[in-house]
Amino acid sequence: MRTTVGIIGAGPAGLLLARLLHNAGIDSVVLESRDRDYVERRQRAGILEQGTVDVLREAGAGERMDREGLRHDGIELRFGKRRHRVDFPALTGGKSVMVYAQTEVCKDLIALQLKDGGPLLFEAEALAVEGAETDRPRVRFRHEGVEDVLECDYVVGCDGFWGVARRAFPAELSRTFERTYPFGWLGILADVAPSHDELVYARHDRGFALLSMRSPSVSRLYLQVPEGTDAEEWSDERIWDELDRRFETADGWTLERGPITQKSVTPMRSYVHEPMRHGRLFLAGDAAHIVPPTGAKGLNLAVGDVVTFARALTHRDETGSDELLDAYSATCLRRVWQAERFSYDMTTMLHRDPEANGFDLRLQLARLERVTASRAAETDLAESYTGFPIG
Ligand SMILES: Cc1cc2nc3c(=O)[nH]c(=O)nc-3n(C[C@H](O)[C@H](O)[C@H](O)COP(=O)(O)OP(=O)(O)OC[C@H]3O[C@@H](n4cnc5c(N)ncnc54)[C@H](O)[C@@H]3O)c2cc1C
Repeated sequence: MRTTVGIIGAGPAGLLLARLLHNAGIDSVVLESRDRDYVERRQRAGILEQGTVDVLREAGAGERMDREGLRHDGIELRFGKRRHRVDFPALTGGKSVMVYAQTEVCKDLIALQLKDGGPLLFEAEALAVEGAETDRPRVRFRHEGVEDVLECDYVVGCDGFWGVARRAFPAELSRTFERTYPFGWLGILADVAPSHDELVYARHDRGFALLSMRSPSVSRLYLQVPEGTDAEEWSDERIWDELDRRFETADGWTLERGPITQKSVTPMRSYVHEPMRHGRLFLAGDAAHIVPPTGAKGLNLAVGDVVTFARALTHRDETGSDELLDAYSATCLRRVWQAERFSYDMTTMLHRDPEANGFDLRLQLARLERVTASRAAETDLAESYTGFPIG
């Protein structure tokens, strides 16, 4: 099998890249280890930055998002039983975000790819990337029990944190930067209308809580829990009681309860692999970097990476110049580190660190007070939340 760009992974990064390349007249093959149903149901991110929304529209993948997605013009910060709304358009010159689940983004992109795009093989597991430093890199993979080789001009590893692409980087070239956190998020999906029409980020002495939504009738809620928590330790009633405590306000706001349909625990990690390119192998999305979900940046970073790659390859086709491909890693990493900074800031400002002493807790409150009292500090949060420019 032979193609111009071999893409490993059909998460948001791989699927969007295939669409961008298709639109630019460049052929690709996508290899995905899981089946279609699994990829379309995997619950993950839900907040699309303005730039991501624009990219999906331009790629021809925005029709259902525009119909069913929920435009959000702000978030609420809650601490000390007080509420403070951050107004995005007023602080950023008109920017907003869109609530549209990652599952739906993937469904839309898969449907387009299967309709008129290049091959998208499910249950095709990449085993190794070979010859990254040559002009003909290859992906060895297994599809329907048979081993095969995909010969490419370029390989893009969009295979997430646990994928194989990163392993093809020589040890002496790879540098990793990492931070783990002593807590995770217990996330639930509940069949109940969201109790607030915008996301609520709550800092409480018992820990962080987030109110989010997937649609006008489905709520997505999260609780900070200790690292290694088993979701089954938490009964539905215990979850709702704890959410009630952490979201409590002085003005009598109430949280509506409903049947919980899904429960899982997500660990929190910050991670960056540098560089993001070795020869003709490029990394994009979670394959190269992870952020804790507090800043809602993971999916949006993946989008930025593949847009940067598609532009660079198109530039090469049009001009013969490798200049943008050579700049790929540095271009992406500038944006990645801004997202790492913001995600870290939001995480440490809002979560209860079990090791924190009284001084740390006072500082945390002072940071929240600063955001709510200073337009400059609030603008910084709003600009970072609605997204950093791509490229
Ligand atoms: C449990 C969880 C919850 C999250 N919640 C949020 C959130 O609330 N907000 C937020 O902004 N972000 C969240 N994220 C992060 C966000 O979902 C990711 O940043 C985003 O999915 C990145 O997209 P990606 O395409 O780079 O990687 P992925 O979505 O991980 O896709 C990688 C794909 O590669 C496939 N693959 C892996 N190995 C191979 C192989 N060897 N061969 C072929 N295919 C392979 C995988 O099956 C997968 O389909 C969450 C992540 C996780 C894990």
